[in-house]
Amino acid sequence: MFDLSIKKEDIEWLKKYYPALKIHYKDNKATEVIGDLYFSMVFLEEGKPYIINPDYGYSNGVKIKDKYQIRIELKGSEFSDLPQVFEINSRLEKIADSRNIKKKDLHINPGGAGCLCIKPEEILNLPNGFNFKDFFNNLVIPFFYAQSYFEKNNTWPWGQYSHGIWGFIEWYLKQDNLTKQSTESFLKRLQKYNNEWRLLKNLLIPKCKIKGHHECICGKNNKFRNCHNDVLRGIWKLKQDILNFGIKIQ
Ligand SMILES: [Zn+2]
Ligand SMILES: [Zn+2]
Repeated sequence: MFDLSIKKEDIEWLKKYYPALKIHYKDNKATEVIGDLYFSMVFLEEGKPYIINPDYGYSNGVKIKDKYQIRIELKGSEFSDLPQVFEINSRLEKIADSRNIKKKDLHINPGGAGCLCIKPEEILNLPNGFNFKDFFNNLVIPFFYAQSYFEKNNTWPWGQYSHGIWGFIEWYLKQDNLTKQSTESFLKRLQKYNNEWRLLKNLLIPKCKIKGHHECICGKNNKFRNCHNDVLRGIWKLKQDILNFGIKIQ
């Protein structure tokens, strides 16, 4: 869990770098940040840090300058322990409608807040705890950079996890040094996605064999291996771990 209280440094930092964003208070407590987010960011390549506000004339990587109208609710939700970030001018909604895709395909959670990163990676993006500078530079601006990039190119600037439960399975595939305990708590997290969990649970039964030419779990009627291959491999890994650790699934 993060301490989401706003400190003096946060207020000063926001005023200096994002004067078009205003903090709203209720009973002397900061509850929301509302306004225009003007940003400029460069993405170089996977694994390299994002460059926020690159110097004038900086010519490497892909630079995007854009503006979104946003509202940040300074409290967590069932999807995230971090503040909820909303785009409030229906720009993302219009993109989803015009491309005939779902809002979740744009990493928007039910309720409308952006999915800034997968929950287990929140702590990696905020190693020093919650503060405006890291929250904006590591999560909020890259989120809108990716949205703006998607709007122009119809593809994402960097490889990312699928939205929701399947993203968790892709994440699991990349983990080393798992223990019985960590796999059990991972399974608990999956169970929060009721509908998808019901599907997945059947596939985790040892005698259920799941192969690459089977229909993909996302429901898009593609072969598993051509659609969500890392989810397939993650499920295989999960099944093996369940067996090795002797975990019982309820
Ligand atoms: Zn997402
Ligand atoms: Zn799929």
